[in-house]
Amino acid sequence: MLKTGGLDRFISFQDGIVRCEAGITLGEILELAVPRGYFLPVVPGTKHVSVGGAIANDIHGKNHHRAGTFGRHVRRLELLRSDGSRAEVSPGDELFNATVGGLGLTGLITWAEIALRPVPGAAVQTDALKFTGLDEFFAISDESDALCEYTVAWLDVLSREHRGIFYRGDHAAGAVRAPRARVSVPVDVKLVNGLTVRAFNAAYYLAQRGGKRVGHYDPFFFPLDAVDRWNRLYGKGGFLQFQCVVPAREGLRELLDEIARLGAGSPLTVLKKFGDVPSPGMLSFPRPGFTVAIDLPSSEIQTFARLESIAAGAGGALYPAKDARMSAATFVKSYPRLDEFKRFLDPAFSSSFWRRVAG
Ligand SMILES: Cc1cc2nc3c(=O)[nH]c(=O)nc-3n(C[C@H](O)[C@H](O)[C@H](O)COP(=O)(O)OP(=O)(O)OC[C@H]3O[C@@H](n4cnc5c(N)ncnc54)[C@H](O)[C@@H]3O)c2cc1C
Repeated sequence: MLKTGGLDRFISFQDGIVRCEAGITLGEILELAVPRGYFLPVVPGTKHVSVGGAIANDIHGKNHHRAGTFGRHVRRLELLRSDGSRAEVSPGDELFNATVGGLGLTGLITWAEIALRPVPGAAVQTDALKFTGLDEFFAISDESDALCEYTVAWLDVLSREHRGIFYRGDHAAGAVRAPRARVSVPVDVKLVNGLTVRAFNAAYYLAQRGGKRVGHYDPFFFPLDAVDRWNRLYGKGGFLQFQCVVPAREGLRELLDEIARLGAGSPLTVLKKFGDVPSPGMLSFPRPGFTVAIDLPSSEIQTFARLESIAAGAGGALYPAKDARMSAATFVKSYPRLDEFKRFLDPAFSSSFWRRVAG
């Protein structure tokens, strides 16, 4: 296990290009960049992610339909191999394409250079639209992807009619205040269960008034960061996230129907249409289609297996960043560049994920 928190220095920042060590977090880059008129090109649902982790999983965000993955914006990086050699690689190099989305298996990324995007400030204008049924979701998604930089939907996964709330947004001008201090869940207390999820989802759906507002980027991009140790709400047994992408609407419908039928209660089900911007990594997860992320208690082993089989049968893939259960057969089937990738493995690096799916 290598701890990368010590790789915490910025190396340079000029004309929207930041070069920093790989243990710097995305939150630290935003703190530096936003007051200077720049934003990260891609952010995930939490800012407590390191640059090395963002590259190794080739992460995606709410603007995948426009910007593609994080790795597309990395101009250069340094890789330290276990034989002590250091390779500086950039897009087009095979070792770069193996390392982006390479799950930390090609060596240690020590620093990276990332191209940021200009923004008018810390504000985002957001819009929330309620929908009922997947046809309405598809229509809003198509319209919003053409209009807006950021799009994502929350789904009331237990509602058989597939109701939800579609969020879309863009960077905006104007002074906005950063959110107040975080709240914290002090102990493991299992508040998430079938009943509370049903009640939470219904209340959340009803409470959303919809409409436009301008606010700070933080709650729009990183809502969970406001609650420290929110995972404790799942109790000591914890939870796993199932995230897949399926290429077509029918596959998505089948998957969501099955989730509702199984009564697989998740308060945080996220649905997004991926665009067709190619991912640079040999093992990158994002590809055209629909991605669904659903949190389930770790004990729901059969549900995970059932959802995996539907996703794989529909020609989809599971996201290794979130995975603890995927079978080797599904991984091999859905990551066709696996053999090409294996040529770049560092022999001293491995992981429990890797031993399970490719060992
Ligand atoms: C609340 C929440 C929301 C999330 N939302 C999203 C989302 O919207 N989109 C998305 O794509 N992901 C999302 N994620 C997943 C997250 O972005 C990835 O798991 C990310 O890789 C975590 O980075 P980390 O720095 O915590 O790395 P770790 O979890 O420590 O490691 C992740 C991987 O990166 C490798 N790695 C880390 N540092 C280096 C390095 N310096 N060199 C080589 N390899 C390295 C590790 O070996 C490991 O394989 C979310 C996670 C959470 C908890």
